[in-house]
Amino acid sequence: MLQNTQAFILKVNPKGETSAILHCFSKDFGKIILIAKGARTAKSPFRGLIEPFSLLNVHFNEKKDRPYQFLSQAEYQQSFSHLKSNPEAILYGSVILEILYKEKEVEANVLLFDLLLNVFNAMENGVSPQIAHWYFILRFLEIEGLSLNTENCYHCDQELEKGYFLPKIGSIRCQDCHEEFSLIWELDPAILSLLKDLPKLPAEQLGDVVDSGFDKEMINRILWNTLATRFDTCRTLKSVDVLRKVL
Ligand SMILES: [Zn+2]
Repeated sequence: MLQNTQAFILKVNPKGETSAILHCFSKDFGKIILIAKGARTAKSPFRGLIEPFSLLNVHFNEKKDRPYQFLSQAEYQQSFSHLKSNPEAILYGSVILEILYKEKEVEANVLLFDLLLNVFNAMENGVSPQIAHWYFILRFLEIEGLSLNTENCYHCDQELEKGYFLPKIGSIRCQDCHEEFSLIWELDPAILSLLKDLPKLPAEQLGDVVDSGFDKEMINRILWNTLATRFDTCRTLKSVDVLRKVL
């Protein structure tokens, strides 16, 4: 059956001498694997199109009993050319691609598809890639039903005035409940309010987030840790290792 859908390219692997395997997150089918025959030859119509971050309109002849499908035609929906030419956007954007790539099965999910589209659009339009990637992680956790609770203590449920993050379990406790733990990261009020407010913003307003001097590296660590505690596939992310070395 002939199908077509919008799909983000998460990862491209070579196949044989001239073909390519595309790992995609599509609007209508969730994660799919497409084989692009001859894509690495000079004359291929797919050349230049199939690279990570691209949002393509892909056409394929679906055979349900196969774990992959053959790409028959593709056009750019959005190329994200600014994003792709910004090294910082590539670094932070790669964390997002890798999270989705490593998840074994991701079903079609319009919320998740739109989140990805909005976050890449924000990066394309010059929003801080780091902030956009924080936003993605916080909203992704919500969509998956595994939010980081930043309002109430994970243990006693009282409203948080100060927060203490427990990296081993990826949750926040209050001033009364953190003392039994030796490994805790104290969250200053600027970090706590950023974590609270950021996921409530519409993506179009990410450019308005004011840098109030929060500890950016700490926010990275909190969010990467939270992912690792909730998804086995996120315990080690190559893109995060790269960022740790670069920062
Ligand atoms: Zn408590």
